[in-house]
Amino acid sequence: MLTLNDVQAGYGRTTILHGINVEVQKGEVVTIVGANGAGKTTTLRSIAGLVRPTSGSITFEGEPIGKLSPHEVVARGITLIPEGRQLFPFMSVRDNLRMGAYTPQARARMSATMDEVMDLFPRVREKLEQHAGSLSGGEQQMVAIARGLMARPKLLMFDEPSLGLAPIIVAQVFDVVEKIVATGVTVLIVEQNVFRTLNIADRGYVLENGEIVMTDSGQALLRDDHVRRAYLGI
Ligand code: ATP
Repeated sequence: MLTLNDVQAGYGRTTILHGINVEVQKGEVVTIVGANGAGKTTTLRSIAGLVRPTSGSITFEGEPIGKLSPHEVVARGITLIPEGRQLFPFMSVRDNLRMGAYTPQARARMSATMDEVMDLFPRVREKLEQHAGSLSGGEQQMVAIARGLMARPKLLMFDEPSLGLAPIIVAQVFDVVEKIVATGVTVLIVEQNVFRTLNIADRGYVLENGEIVMTDSGQALLRDDHVRRAYLGI
């Protein structure tokens, strides 16, 4: 479904990704594991059209997307739920959700999508008229995920969805990710909670200093000595 072939990318003259190869098949949950600064966010931003690769190719459903603008990437069916949620705090939850449905295809089906998405997030439904900024951190994360779904993505990318949340809320975030997967959406996830993430992931990539150093099934990576020492603290 998604293929990154020898992708190099960075900021200004600094190269962060040194030619990475990543593949995501339809229906999979794939994770990228790595230390802070390894380039995980840069990888997601490259796919989303927010960072322009300097070489290599990114294809989605057989078509090159590496030169598309962010909104064109969303229109192809890829949505990024960014780190730190990035909601509009002084807008209502409902209006934040509407902002997610900004492609013509998504806008045309907005009210049906809103109903479907709210079935996944009953707590969000109760707060539709409140300012997003008045919600708790966990509720805001749910709104950010719901907003991502409003674009009706085929591939949903999560950047650190559990960052800064209490353990019980983290569990709820992972439950929601699993429910989304069950609806047929493909998931690419970057997450500091490596143990939980590898447990739900079909496959994972280990990214170190902008290079993929290992890839295997989630379960195999959980058993791997290097992964256990470096990312699971075992
Ligand atoms: P983290 O978990 O800390 O977000 P990460 O693996 O997602 O780590 P990236 O956010 O991709 O890492 O960052 C990789 C490197 O790129 C870091 O050294 C970071 O300082 C640098 N970087 C990130 N964004 C920018 C930017 N806008 N301009 C310049 N350098 C940046």
